[in-house]
Amino acid sequence: MKYRIERSPDGEWIMADVWKRGAGLLTDALFNKGTAFTQEERQLFDLDGMLPHQVTDRRRQVSRAWEHLMAKGDDPFEKYVCMASLQGRNETLYFQVLSEHIEELTPVVYTPTVGEAAVCFSHAFRRGRGLWITPDHRGRIYDILGHVRNEDVRLIVVTDNERILGLGDQGVGGMVIPIGKLALYTLGAGIHPAYTLPISLDVGTDNPDLLEDDLYAGWREPRLRGTPYYELVDEFVEAVRRRFPEAILQWEDFKKANAFVLLDRYRSVLPSFNDDIQGTGAAIVAGIIASCARTGVKLTDQRILMVGAGAAGVGISRHLRSALTAVGVSDEDLPSHVAVYDTIGLISMATEGLEPHQHSVAWPSELAEARGLVGEESIDLIHVIETYQPTIIAGATGVPGLFTEEVIRTMAKHAERPVVMALSNPTSKCEAVPSDVFEWTNGRAIVATGSPFDPVDIDGRMHTVSQANNVYIVPGVGMGALVSKAREVTDSMFVAAADALAARTIAASEDDDSLYPPLRNLRIITRDIAGAVAREARDAGVGRDLTDEEIEQELDHEIWNFDYPTLRPI
Ligand code: NAD
Repeated sequence: MKYRIERSPDGEWIMADVWKRGAGLLTDALFNKGTAFTQEERQLFDLDGMLPHQVTDRRRQVSRAWEHLMAKGDDPFEKYVCMASLQGRNETLYFQVLSEHIEELTPVVYTPTVGEAAVCFSHAFRRGRGLWITPDHRGRIYDILGHVRNEDVRLIVVTDNERILGLGDQGVGGMVIPIGKLALYTLGAGIHPAYTLPISLDVGTDNPDLLEDDLYAGWREPRLRGTPYYELVDEFVEAVRRRFPEAILQWEDFKKANAFVLLDRYRSVLPSFNDDIQGTGAAIVAGIIASCARTGVKLTDQRILMVGAGAAGVGISRHLRSALTAVGVSDEDLPSHVAVYDTIGLISMATEGLEPHQHSVAWPSELAEARGLVGEESIDLIHVIETYQPTIIAGATGVPGLFTEEVIRTMAKHAERPVVMALSNPTSKCEAVPSDVFEWTNGRAIVATGSPFDPVDIDGRMHTVSQANNVYIVPGVGMGALVSKAREVTDSMFVAAADALAARTIAASEDDDSLYPPLRNLRIITRDIAGAVAREARDAGVGRDLTDEEIEQELDHEIWNFDYPTLRPI
């Protein structure tokens, strides 16, 4: 089956060759318009009498759906369920509601609420969305991919569920993450949902609570590992290439060892990227560049301590090193600007137990020895901070409260405007509570967090807490890669995305401490980023050779504004 989406010369969205009628049309969330079906459509598609008489316009439909949501009270999970159910009934209306209430609803359909949805997935399960691939499907994955609702897939988000937000192995429940991420793609970049596909590689779980749960809905086996795991992923990637040759694939929430291996193994096999490594890297670097404008300290004068050397921490540090190199910092000088710390201590070539993905960001042994940051000394975070004197500290550990009063006060001794980025999600995993950080620094800090926090009043002055989230980056990268038909998603495309995001933030307001623009501007920012990414794909020789003007025209053509399409019967 293929949904045929066309654009008329004046830009109207059309779904052509609609083959469904009556109840079949009403239960297809991509076609369904509910009470917005016009009287003519009701006649044309055998809907007469199947809907209440009144044809409802967009404003009224959105306000009715909003009333349903408000009736759920203050419970974000109830709202999540309500939104998921709307998505299953009428996808256009779902995005209309989401876009008109973007700041209230992004935390409902994604982090932090999506974390709760992952944890109780098997108990709250109502109906499937996307595809689950299990080891039982070995040898048949190409056929399984043929079961999707639309053969024209252009964007896939896939997870193996092992590192869901900061909540670890959530087994089958991890599926809510690709679903939520793709909703953000549509929300931010206007990629039509018909082209998107969430996939879970359900290779089992090592979470004992799930394995023992009578209602567990997934493949109830310990995780597949080693060669059988990689063989399954190989088959999956090959099947995607054959079945959906135009698709971009995003790896999402894989545990660090697999995250790096899979990214490197397939990045030139099919256009693919890892959100947690590259998307996060670009998003955080954009925030850091914006913080330089806020504090007046140049990037080349910053000392950035990354706490947590997992997928996100190493991704951020790699990206930072590229950004510093781009502004003329030599390889030898990079460690004076970026240091990485994990439970094994400051990451250097002298650190015992170094993992392969950490090598690229490790300090040389001699430097660590010269600074007294080896062995036990390097494990003491306070000692590391006293010695390195960071101007910016960022946490991606999943450890709540790791940035203690002592950590923040020690750091703040050496920085006039300390920048604190507590990135772990969901909210319960955040390394620091923003109000504490402001209090411990007498309001001098600039704070960003992974999950949303309200502004904080310190002595009558409101302090912004920016949300550092790769939602600002990945939709633009995805759309840019799609319009340029990129055969590879390069790191330089992420650098272009980070620069475009930082430029937007700095231009938006110069007089407050925000490191990211408000979410309500997501559409405009994403369009900027998509253009920058498509131009970089062209310049790097991996994308279509379009002029800047043609890129803008392509974006005009591809970006969907959540209007109901005209349905044309077959
Ligand atoms: P990961 O498991 O790959 O890495 C976590 C790392 O933290 C590990 O290396 C672990 O050893 C280290 N760690 C644990 N305790 C520590 C401690 N006390 N001190 C120092 N290091 C410690 O996970 P990840 O993919 O890197 O994600 C980590 C967190 O970052 C998650 O909570 C995730 O939700 C969050 N994250 C946020 C964003 C964002 O945009 N805000 C993006 C990606 C990830």
